[in-house]
Amino acid sequence: MGSAALAEAIKGIRNWAMTEGRVAHTPANVKDTFGALVFSDKVQQARLPKPAYKALRDTIMRGEALDASTADAVASALKDWAVEHGASHFTHWFQPLTGITAEKHDSFYGPTADGRALAEFSGKELVRGEPDASSFPSGGIRSTFEARGYTAWDPTSPPWLLVNNNSATLVIPTAFVSWTGAALDKKTPLLRSMEALSTQAVRVLKLFGSAATRVTATFGPEQEYFLVDSNFYFARPDLLNAGRTLFGARPPKGQELEDQYFGSIPERVLACMAEAEAELYKVGVPIKTRHNEVAPSQYEVAPIFESANVATDHQMMTMETLKRVAPKYGLACLLHEKPFAGVNGSGKHLNWSIGDDLGNNLLNPGDTPHLNMQFLFFCTAVIRAVDMSQGLLRMSIAHAGNDHRLGANEAPPAILSVFLGDMLTEIFDQVEGGGAKSTKAGGVLDIGVAALPKLPRDAGDRNRTSPFAFTGNKFEFRAVGSTQNVALPGTCLNVAVAESLDAMATELEAKLAKGESLEAAVAALLRKTIKTHKRIIFNGNGYSNEWQKEAAKRGLLNLKNTVDALPEIVKPSVIKAFEKFKVLTEAELHARYEINLETYCKTINIEAQLMVLMANRYILPAAFEYQKKVGQSVAAARAGGVPSKEGKKVLALIVKLTDAFRAQTERLADALDHNSPSSEKHAKYMRDTIVPAMARLRDLGDQIEVIVPHEVWPLPTYREMLFVK
Ligand code: ADP
Ligand code: MG
Repeated sequence: MGSAALAEAIKGIRNWAMTEGRVAHTPANVKDTFGALVFSDKVQQARLPKPAYKALRDTIMRGEALDASTADAVASALKDWAVEHGASHFTHWFQPLTGITAEKHDSFYGPTADGRALAEFSGKELVRGEPDASSFPSGGIRSTFEARGYTAWDPTSPPWLLVNNNSATLVIPTAFVSWTGAALDKKTPLLRSMEALSTQAVRVLKLFGSAATRVTATFGPEQEYFLVDSNFYFARPDLLNAGRTLFGARPPKGQELEDQYFGSIPERVLACMAEAEAELYKVGVPIKTRHNEVAPSQYEVAPIFESANVATDHQMMTMETLKRVAPKYGLACLLHEKPFAGVNGSGKHLNWSIGDDLGNNLLNPGDTPHLNMQFLFFCTAVIRAVDMSQGLLRMSIAHAGNDHRLGANEAPPAILSVFLGDMLTEIFDQVEGGGAKSTKAGGVLDIGVAALPKLPRDAGDRNRTSPFAFTGNKFEFRAVGSTQNVALPGTCLNVAVAESLDAMATELEAKLAKGESLEAAVAALLRKTIKTHKRIIFNGNGYSNEWQKEAAKRGLLNLKNTVDALPEIVKPSVIKAFEKFKVLTEAELHARYEINLETYCKTINIEAQLMVLMANRYILPAAFEYQKKVGQSVAAARAGGVPSKEGKKVLALIVKLTDAFRAQTERLADALDHNSPSSEKHAKYMRDTIVPAMARLRDLGDQIEVIVPHEVWPLPTYREMLFVK
């Protein structure tokens, strides 16, 4: 782009390095401040009356209902703690179906009769809030005139303080439901799915003789993101409004040298990361790792895993904090799945496991045959779940942004499959054969018990191409998009596995009732289940064309884009499972289908409108400007008696491209003027007509970019955005 923004960007980096650059975040103060702004268990214990503390713990640990007097006690302690830390306001924080979070701040202070202000906060205010539900998407569940909605305190996720230079606000995580009780958010179904999974898993554990009474789904979501200089960000309407570049020619250097992944982190970026992490530590988000990712200017941050619900809140806070802190360093954080064409996109690997209240990770292969059997049972249930719920899981990660990633050559394919690794695959082969004789490593076998072999501790190699990989003691759902709230994919996974555990437990219980031994019954059940569902196991290269063919042969679903995937949420089997486990009703599922379709259409529409705007107001004027210059120069040469043959060729090329570009801009603008009889039809129209028209316009624009001179080109280029750090 014209050198001005580039110069600004470089000046910004220099200023930063010379002034604010030396930020005081030493490891020591990170340690001291971890959780300092959280109303944590420790704070609760110190500040609550004993009975109230005990009642609150029972609610958190065992899901027991909270009575009004406890709520009052908690509210009072919470307010005192918050006010002592400088808070003036509180907010019920929730996760509506927009995909981002919502908050409305209310002051603690109310006027007294004698004209003073008094900080007050009752149990009622803690437990319930009443935002206007009609302004949030409801998929037709609520109409505008029936606006009432409630936020309900989620005691299982601790409140924290949102502090900035001018304010401190007490943030209370809440669920968001309509007046009729329908879930209008992402947290409610997640909590319900955790409950369902716990019930079914405990039922299975009982059969294996365990005394566990509760099982918790755990999430460890890894976040990939880009950081680009704010000067470039503000100079690109597409980044600012769509979160991704809609035009942009490939730079001469991309990621082909593989010199970025795990490379040393640029100074300014590291400082930014450190501050974001320090902020997250204060509010109790246990960030653990940071590194450079594959694409230039792409990075990753990952926490230590936590209970699914808390991890989901913390993941939303992580995205918000990255966005909030980056500008302080003259950077903009891009969370989009595909901010730049031609280099890797961003995902969010959702590490998932289940643990019991005795401290055991149920997906940890154990040493004893007994634990082996239990592990194999749970692992088989997950394999069965992914096979049975391929469509549901595919739906859970489908949105316009992820369409650029899934199935593209650097991301997992749109086909769901499970990677187990060679060793575990061989063990499952043996389980299926029913006569395990040896493990690959030549370990000892308990043939006398149930033909279930001893398991290796390390499940073997990694496979970066698998959308759903077993990684030692957890599964990693790798196809989730980087902007996504993990609640939906996590909820679907929980429901799918709960359904599997339920079905398998029912069979096992029947066998046991007939007097079969546990070992024999489990061995037979696993053999049968693996036989039926092993088609979902794939350890090869998920990015290859052979896999597409092989998957088709195996009858696996290949839902290539959002529009194909979304209807899976209202398939009868999905409705049946969600209703059975009381996670979402048929109406609530339909509402989500409708919202997701609309969001898809709106996203594509915004992007296409932006392209038309950028074409008319940025690219065409630049192209005409250059055309004029070349035209004048060709005319001058001819007038001087030395006509330029090459000059004429350049002129011909720019005229041809500019005309084609202009015509395609008009075509796209006309195509956007379209009504469809239903949102389904409209989504198909956007996919089949608008998306290809956008691709053609981009292609022409990118061809123009590489011939127009630097000073004339009005937009920051890929080369600048990706490499000025
Ligand atoms: P990897 O190389 O597989 O990414 P890590 O140990 O860094 O290995 O794990 C990545 C993520 O997986 C981290 O966020 C981590 O907390 C999470 N994780 C580890 N164990 C579990 C578990 N039992 N449940 C959920 N997530 C887990
Ligand atoms: Mg990982």
